[in-house]
Amino acid sequence: MRLLLVEDDSTISVPLRDGLTREGFDVQVAATGAEALAASSVDLVLLDLGLPDLEGRVVCQELRARSPVPIIVVTARGDEIDRVVLLEMGADDYVVKPFGFRELVARIRAVLRRTAQTEVTTHSPTLTVGSLVIDPRTRMVRFNDAPVALTPKEFDLLTCLATDAGAVKTREQLMREVWDEHWWGSTKTLDVHVASLRRKLRSDAIETIRSVGYRCSLADAEPAGSNEDDSA
Ligand code: CA
Repeated sequence: MRLLLVEDDSTISVPLRDGLTREGFDVQVAATGAEALAASSVDLVLLDLGLPDLEGRVVCQELRARSPVPIIVVTARGDEIDRVVLLEMGADDYVVKPFGFRELVARIRAVLRRTAQTEVTTHSPTLTVGSLVIDPRTRMVRFNDAPVALTPKEFDLLTCLATDAGAVKTREQLMREVWDEHWWGSTKTLDVHVASLRRKLRSDAIETIRSVGYRCSLADAEPAGSNEDDSA
């Protein structure tokens, strides 16, 4: 597995590269945003947001625009980075410095495992719920005939909710299916993604089930074209 470590602070990047190499990763280090964008393709990017030349979020967006490579963003404690912005710019996950090495490795493996699963599901057929159409092959979403641009995690969450639409999915179930069992961040991430999906869909298609979880309520809607009445 090839990993690109984007980190300008060599007191962090050198031991991290050595540690990750011992874990079996093939690690390239980029000390600037420009180097990161010039690097050859890898299986995962670990991206420090505090870079000397380019804004980390610009590097993240640029990498995301080029390929679906998984990106784990590294932020410094006290960075006033809005969680929503971080996920909207295309990051798959994030860690806050200082982080434990074991935890970081668990996160990297989890993201890689999920990416591998996503590749399997890309052969799944198109999913249609009411006026929502999800194509796992192209990872395109249309709602009310309009395309909706989603981040990878938003896509996975929406797909998870729309599969068996109408069924209530618990917070734990969603965290496990969309993130993974090693998730060590807050489940607030889930609420952030749901809020973002509601905003992008301009709809309350995702219903909150208090103290349980969420459900996709589109399955309750009348299927298109079935508006005949009983008055005959
Ligand atoms: Ca830095």
